[in-house]
Amino acid sequence: MSRCQICASPLQSLIDFGPQPVCNRYLAAPDRNEFHHPLILAQCASDGLLQLARPWPSDEVRPRLEWISYKEPERHLDDLCERIAALPGVGSDTLIAGLSYKDEPVLTRLERSGFSKTWNVRLDELGILEPGSGMESIQNVLSLELAGKLRDHREAPGVIVVRHLLEHSNSVARTLEFLKAWARPGGIFILEVPDSEQTFRDLDFGTVWEEHVCYFTECTMGRAFHPYETSLLEVIRYPYTLEDCLIAIVANRPPQTALSPVNGALEKELVLGAGFKKGWQPLGIRCREALDSIRQNGGSTVIFGAGHRAATFINLLGLEKLITCVIDDDPRKAGLHLPGCQLPIVPSARLHAERPALCLLAASPDSEKVIMEKNKDYTNNGGRFASIYPRSPIAWAQLRA
Ligand SMILES: [Zn+2]
Repeated sequence: MSRCQICASPLQSLIDFGPQPVCNRYLAAPDRNEFHHPLILAQCASDGLLQLARPWPSDEVRPRLEWISYKEPERHLDDLCERIAALPGVGSDTLIAGLSYKDEPVLTRLERSGFSKTWNVRLDELGILEPGSGMESIQNVLSLELAGKLRDHREAPGVIVVRHLLEHSNSVARTLEFLKAWARPGGIFILEVPDSEQTFRDLDFGTVWEEHVCYFTECTMGRAFHPYETSLLEVIRYPYTLEDCLIAIVANRPPQTALSPVNGALEKELVLGAGFKKGWQPLGIRCREALDSIRQNGGSTVIFGAGHRAATFINLLGLEKLITCVIDDDPRKAGLHLPGCQLPIVPSARLHAERPALCLLAASPDSEKVIMEKNKDYTNNGGRFASIYPRSPIAWAQLRA
């Protein structure tokens, strides 16, 4: 039986999406023997944390293509760095450490504002040698032994910045125990995760991803640290179109008070999970009917942006037979096939040659305007863009029904 990442209570299965592919494993050609693993979304009945019931093996999730990396939002980092600089006990000679390329922009900003001791631990210092390794591999090597080695190598950090790793952790317990053992007593962890409350409420199925084990909300994030004998100081929310960023500032010391229950908090989380479960099949039917109707009228549909959001959106809603191809101008993806649906990835010239009736946008919402501007000819000739993101101003109408 799977147990909750935070409180170890038995998990309740919400949606079993069936066997799914690894979204970063683009195929050179359609392949009947593609790797699959069960994708099961579950929820803890005790604290409401949404999470995958069976985390995926990190060796399978590790990208086979070395150029794959993920860009996290950075607009909030100046503000975050000001807050780090103002933390009690943090001075220009405090050792501030990071664990991945996602932490680099924070450390660089802090260096520029006068912090002289930063250390972004390299992959080889973590003992990771396979090229292409990312968060899936980093989370997998964190151990008390590694924490000891890092402490022997350099003093224990006073601040550790960990952006977008906690939700990738197959064991939140292992990650937090590692951080506790690495940082100095009373040191501070800056833990950033995407907020899943709005995306789940909006039935944004592109948000479910095999690399994200935990789907935190402000409430479940706020209650994640107490069981691990650490003290939450603050949760900060930074709003974004795709999904907000949540940052927990946590001190490496046991909490001084018991975790007090918040009225209605658990119920709110359970309603969020239940709504997502209830909305899944009707949404798939609505989307398939709309695309089928386009096809019946002699038109076609394509999707723009060959990333994990497009793959999940198509695979989890069962749209693979109603979309003809995936448009993406990244030359490294040209000619490959998107995992799961196995649709071919083609450059945007195809948009003008084929003139599909609908082009669903699955690139970052921040780039939607640019894509539409670049491809004006397509819309001038009767084509239509619509976003797969419910919070986009041009969200596809089916998502909001
Ligand atoms: Zn729990």
